[in-house]
This record gives sequence, structure tokens and C-alpha cells, in this order.
Amino acid sequence: MLAQFQTFIPPVRTLMGPGPSDVDPRILNALSRPTLGHLDPAFIQLMDEIKQLLQYAFKTDNQLTMPISAPGSAGMESVFVNLLEPGDKVIVCQNGVFGGRMQQNVERCGATAVMVQDTWGKQTDLNKLEDALKATPDAKAVAFVHAETSTGVRNDAKAICALAKRYDCLTIVDAVTSLGGIELDVDGWQIDAIYSGTQKCLSCVPGLSPVSFSQEAVEVIKSRKSKVQSWFLDMELVMGYWGQGGKRAYHHTAPVNSLYALHESLRILHNEGLSSAFLRHQEMHVALKVGLEKIGLEFVVDQAYRLPQLNMVSIPQGVDDAQVRSQLLNEYGLEIGAGLGELAGKVWRIGLMGYGCNKKNVDYCVNALTSVLAR
Ligand SMILES: *Cc1c(COP(=O)(O)O)cnc(C)c1O
Repeated sequence: MLAQFQTFIPPVRTLMGPGPSDVDPRILNALSRPTLGHLDPAFIQLMDEIKQLLQYAFKTDNQLTMPISAPGSAGMESVFVNLLEPGDKVIVCQNGVFGGRMQQNVERCGATAVMVQDTWGKQTDLNKLEDALKATPDAKAVAFVHAETSTGVRNDAKAICALAKRYDCLTIVDAVTSLGGIELDVDGWQIDAIYSGTQKCLSCVPGLSPVSFSQEAVEVIKSRKSKVQSWFLDMELVMGYWGQGGKRAYHHTAPVNSLYALHESLRILHNEGLSSAFLRHQEMHVALKVGLEKIGLEFVVDQAYRLPQLNMVSIPQGVDDAQVRSQLLNEYGLEIGAGLGELAGKVWRIGLMGYGCNKKNVDYCVNALTSVLAR
């Protein structure tokens, strides 16, 4: 006898961890619309709108702006495999988990990663970066994480890019958690290659990675001596499908319904306006901070460079990390994030991202933590 399998109905949750964040019902609704062929003219029109909306969100005129059909980690990989060739040197700034992943990507391209290390929970130090730039005159690029989700630190993307440009380096930015949550200006800050994700401040379903490449980055890709090691992520091949004009050809089958969802999420962001969205994240962060400090929880990251969308607080002495998080999940359906790496067991990470960044969630989280911690 074959087992009987039931339809999967997910439990009701409020997602206030480091991502995925709660998906707006309008976006879930868009996801369920009938699938089109990936070369259907109506779908191609939607792809063009997605590119325009991404240019708005990234603040760029870059022609090469589109979503990679895979999660943020694939966007990260696409940037490194397209820009780097064996023997290149890249300065990688690390002050958390995701800078370490950049290092691994650089090394897997056969390139050398020159690391600028800073303490987790602190910003990348511009003086250390300048020392590394002076000591590495043949560096091709500077890579860093704008919003370090593992700690809740905002790195000063504008200043890091300005410094890198003074030393003629390309700039590579991880904006997975920053896009839609805090100010980001791809053209204004001279960012050459950037990748993001859909499941953080865009409040879309996971599994897509918006990327954008400057004209200078495109020139670097076009003048490569070796083939991009990844067939799937080779931007010149991807552009045969995502490029401008009528000559679109099959490269891979686009995740059609997920792209309906991304279009809807970007449309919602465009309607709200970037500055209103950033202000909302800031105001909700302040409301959460007031609530959490009232019950004695302390923020780890300095206010001057704290991310509003990722709030890292110390776990009080004598409190059982795993027990509190499982009580929140089982009794309140509330997910908050644990500490990563060296911060495991020491901190909680509370996300206020996109659709989930609202007063109702702030109050729900503060009230749930208040009663669980009172036991
Ligand atoms: C979540 C995240 C990633 C990875 O994105 P996935 O969609 O999980 O692959 C990369 N960088 C940062 C800063 C992130 O927060």
C-alpha cells in the first residue's frame, strides 16, 4: 500500500528573522496566476518592466540590470565568475559571515583575495582598506557587503566605493539585505557590480537575485581572455535571453511565476517610493528599539551604523537561546534569527524587512518576548 500524502499547508508564521521575510499577499496572489511561455510576447513585456523597476530600485541607468534565476548566492557567484579571471587580485572587506563567502568565491575563480578584516559588529575600517589598496597596486576590485545580515552592521558603501575608485578598482557590492531597506545609489556611488535577493526587504518569494553591472564592468567582461567558468551564469549568454530588442533566444526556462511575484513586489516598492520605504524602516526600528530596551535587551551595534532592518540584541545572562526561540515559534508562530558563527548563542537577530516592517509586527514581537522572558 502506498502511503497517502496530504497537501502541505504551512503553519501560520510571522517571519522576523534575517530572511525570508513575510511575503505580501498581493505578491503571493501574483505568483498563482497562469504560467506563460517564457518567450511569449506578453511575458517579454513583463521582463522589460522588471528591468525598468530594478533600475529604479538600484538607482541606476545600467542596461545590464536583471534578475538571475536563482537565490542571492547565485547573484554573488555571477558577479565574481564574470568579472574575475585566474591570477586576478581582489580586496575583500570582511566584518561578518557574508564577506567570508565573497572570499571563497574569489578563490574559486583562481584569483587571490586580499582580506581586510574587521571585528564582527563593527564597520569596515576605511584606513585599513586604504592600507590594503596601497599595498596591492594591482588589485582589480574591492568587494564588500553593504548590509551585513550576520551582525546588523551597515558598511559605508559610498565612502568605500569612493576610496576604491581613487585607486582605479572596480567596486563589487552585496546588497542582498540593503535593497529596499536603506539608501542605495548604484550610479551615484559608482558601484560596478551589485547583487541582491528577493526574500529580504523586497518581501518577495525566495529564489531570485537581481544584479546590475556598470558599463565599465561590461567592458571588463567583454575583454576577458578566458571563458566564464559557469555556463549558466555567463552574462553574455544570459543576455541572449534578457537583452534588449526582439532577438531573445532560449537560454534557460525563466521561473515565470516567480517573476510575476518580483514584478509585483517592485511595483509595490515603486508606488510607496524609495524614500518613504527607507523612512518606514527607520521609524519601525526606533519603535522596536524602545520596546526591547524597556525589557532590558541591549543592542550590540553602534547606533551610527546600525541597520534598521536587522536588529541584533545580546541574549541576557542565564537565558536559554534555543528554548526562547522555540517558545516564540511554537506559542506565537514567531520566527526570530539566531546568532551566526562566532555570535551563535550570544545574540538574536530580529528582522524588520519590507512588508513585515510594520507597527503590528513590532508590538507582536515585543509582547511575545516580554512574556517568554518573564518566565
Ligand atoms: C541572505 C544573504 C545572502 C544569500 O542569499 P540567498 O538568497 O540565501 O542565497 C547573501 N548575502 C547577504 C548579505 C545575505 O543577507
